[in-house]
Amino acid sequence: MPELSIVIPIYNEEENIPVLFERLNGVISQLKIGSELIFINDGSKDNSIALIKDLAIKNSNIKYIDFSRNFGHQVAVSAGLDHCAGKAVIIIDADLQDPPELINDLYNKWNEGYEVVYAKRRARQGENFLKRFTAKMFYRILQKITSINIPVDTGDFRLIDRKVVDVLRQMTEQEKVLRGQISWIGFRQTFVEYDRDARYAGKTGYTYKKMLRFALDGITSFSNLPLKFATFTGFVVSGITFVMILVALYARFISKNYVPGWTSIMLSVLFLGGVQLICIGIIGEYISRLSANIRKRPLYIIGDSNISNK
Ligand code: UDP
Ligand code: MG
Repeated sequence: MPELSIVIPIYNEEENIPVLFERLNGVISQLKIGSELIFINDGSKDNSIALIKDLAIKNSNIKYIDFSRNFGHQVAVSAGLDHCAGKAVIIIDADLQDPPELINDLYNKWNEGYEVVYAKRRARQGENFLKRFTAKMFYRILQKITSINIPVDTGDFRLIDRKVVDVLRQMTEQEKVLRGQISWIGFRQTFVEYDRDARYAGKTGYTYKKMLRFALDGITSFSNLPLKFATFTGFVVSGITFVMILVALYARFISKNYVPGWTSIMLSVLFLGGVQLICIGIIGEYISRLSANIRKRPLYIIGDSNISNK
């Protein structure tokens, strides 16, 4: 049984894999502990899987899982967690934005007795303004509206103890937001700080569509506040309507100073229509996730793997 498992999701990372392996290997051999690397190929369209298989032939501690198609970053990491054997598990990106050398610090903290050691970004290099801004806003909003304390400015780069992995595996929901789930689980958590590098090569696999989906998953799986927003706006609109009724009655019967009110009717119809659509949309976001969970489809489909026991 290896002491340390390293889980690496891969989506079109052929240019990064050789350097990543070099640097990971350097760190591991320094630590002098038994370890395994688990690569999850998340439907890459490039040569990534061939490179991984080649590494696996040459190194007995390399495992791989090859998905039948792209299932997304969080699902890829989940598959790695399902199939790793280490007493401690590291989750790390393949693009070298998460420096492998930091694993030393994570591992030391684990030895001090922490079950979760996450890596907190001090600075982010090589990402455009929009990405940095949306990420920043997302973590701040999530912090505000959820009941759990998801650490700000952290990705999935972290070390988690076997105990945490075992709990995660019992959390079978389809929408995976691992950093939220890990906060929710608890245990002794701490962090180490680092400067986030730019991507070593290649380009991001996170399109804005995938980012939006991830953000909505994060909000809906940890907060019901948006649903309460629907009730809240309902009350506000009712209040406004009540005042308008009074004004209309006053104008009609007391001041007798009224004009046939096309404008006010149009405005209230449009306003109400907008509010109703927003509320239906919010409810829809929750219902679509409910139905996905009820269907109980497998989270991912493995096409090929060199892990035999599972
Ligand atoms: N990734 C994945 N599936 C995807 C998108 C990304 O497995 O659909 C992997 C990717 O190979 C990398 C990690 O997830 O190891 C983080 O992705 P990326 O660097 O593209 O995201 P960013 O750092 O830009 O947020
Ligand atoms: Mg990246």
